[in-house]
Amino acid sequence: MGKPTGFMEYKRRETEWVQPAERIKNFDEFHMNLNLVDRQQQAARCMACGVPFCQAGVMISGMASGCPLHNLVPETNELLYHGNLEQAYRRLSKTHSFPEFTGRVCPALCEAACTCGHIMEPVTTKDNEKDIIEYAFEHGLVEEGEPKVRTGKKVAVIGSGPSGLACAQLLNRRGHKVTVYERSDRPGGLLRYGIPNMKLDKRIVDRRIELMKRSGIEFLCSVNVGVDIKAEELYEKYDRVVLCCGASKPRDITAPGREAEGIMFAVPFLKEVSKKLMDNDYDHKKIMSAKDFSFGSMKGKNVIVIGGGDTGNDCVGTSIRLGAKSVTQIEMMPAAPSERLASNPWPEWPKVLKTDYGQEEAIFCFGKDPRIFSTTVTDFIMDDKGALKAVKTVGLERKTGKDGKAIFDHVEGSEAELPTDIVLIAAGFLGSEEYVTEAFGVKVNARGNVETAAEEFQTSNENVFVAGDMHRGQSLVVWAIAEGRKAAAAVDESLVGYTNL
Ligand SMILES: Cc1cc2nc3c(=O)[nH]c(=O)nc-3n(C[C@H](O)[C@H](O)[C@H](O)COP(=O)(O)OP(=O)(O)OC[C@H]3O[C@@H](n4cnc5c(N)ncnc54)[C@H](O)[C@@H]3O)c2cc1C
Ligand code: SF4
Repeated sequence: MGKPTGFMEYKRRETEWVQPAERIKNFDEFHMNLNLVDRQQQAARCMACGVPFCQAGVMISGMASGCPLHNLVPETNELLYHGNLEQAYRRLSKTHSFPEFTGRVCPALCEAACTCGHIMEPVTTKDNEKDIIEYAFEHGLVEEGEPKVRTGKKVAVIGSGPSGLACAQLLNRRGHKVTVYERSDRPGGLLRYGIPNMKLDKRIVDRRIELMKRSGIEFLCSVNVGVDIKAEELYEKYDRVVLCCGASKPRDITAPGREAEGIMFAVPFLKEVSKKLMDNDYDHKKIMSAKDFSFGSMKGKNVIVIGGGDTGNDCVGTSIRLGAKSVTQIEMMPAAPSERLASNPWPEWPKVLKTDYGQEEAIFCFGKDPRIFSTTVTDFIMDDKGALKAVKTVGLERKTGKDGKAIFDHVEGSEAELPTDIVLIAAGFLGSEEYVTEAFGVKVNARGNVETAAEEFQTSNENVFVAGDMHRGQSLVVWAIAEGRKAAAAVDESLVGYTNL
């Protein structure tokens, strides 16, 4: 334990965010850093409690509690408190492949389970993690050399999101020759083409990919496996295949008028904006004044985002940066309570209403929270040219059906019509894409995820493994990294008979 009285002496201090008035002017990251002394004080708040739930990563009441990577949080915090950032980085790297990603975008399951947080504010473990890894990059500590010995075994990883990258990293370190196939023009999966630049700058993704390339991992982009290259060809070239293709099939809204011009799914929208940003050397002015998006220009448009989750929030923040006149977010579920209910005790993940950056920006720009809860869209209304001009909505009342499942009744008299030019659908995902699972002949469960035995990664096709969202359904970056690492260990064991990963 770094400082036994630290949690009593120092208050939690999160890294500040650039104020909405400034940050909506561009797509830059908006989290500011603490200086080292302040950061060490934050680490001093760690109580090194006897049972560190923060690193447990266990399921409680169906939700994950603590870090799925089992990061050695109290040990890392102690090293940080003592100013030994090199060792803090080395300790962090024992369990983690890419702290620079989670240090920016993780919802910090560790903090929700922090013992300090049981009675006061939790330790700022996520912010600490980011500062440790950035220190390590700045001081040349992050190395990823070629392995000294090659095993002669070859592995193809399909998909370059966080699960594919973590899997490739560990297999390469073990000496297997890894090729990563990616259907997009650039590697990174949703780190690159989902999460917006203001949350995770794409140059941070490039920095890691460059290191991986230098360590001998080959990246083949713009190759759609199952279309451009057949599974049989991969079986011939490689000893094992790992599917890390994500769970990108979006849930649609099947209301009358769905064919109207101006309705897009969230991820293609976010991808287009990130791609334009990178293609224009991160020149914000060019992006914000661009009119040649597939949706035209967003300037002066009324935007409706269907889905009140994190993806929807990213659409709100992005639409505001593109000059939308109004942004409304429609969510079918009722608003979560502002404080934990007694039925949701610590260290469970707290099911409380959070106001994220996009919503904060909407409040700043339009004077109110963009979210309308307990509401759904029943119709898309078009003008005579087929362009979207409004949506019809209705309020919902949540009830419990006979089978215990939630059902939603329309509330009579709550119908409304909202003028809109663009609708972004962020209503969740339905699992993996059939053309890939069919190409490899792997079994898929009722949720569209690739099936394996519990806690295992080998599919019904012996030499084909799976990891990430394609395995567990749309989830989090930290889970994808954890899955990729575990899948690498399973592949390694299947190749050489044992593993030390
Ligand atoms: C908009 C958005 C914002 C998010 N924000 C956060 C956040 O802030 N924090 C967080 O923790 N999580 C967030 N998530 C979730 C997180 O991004 C995912 O859980 C994570 O990226 C999953 O990683 P993955 O490697 O399994 O798949 P992905 O990141 O989806 O990567 C899969 C890759 O496989 C490629 N691919 C698919 N099929 C083929 C094929 N046939 N051939 C070649 N390549 C193929 C895809 O192009 C893609 O690059 C967000 C998700 C979305 C959609
Ligand atoms: S990866 Fe996420 S859950 Fe794990 S220690 Fe870091 S911030 Fe916490």
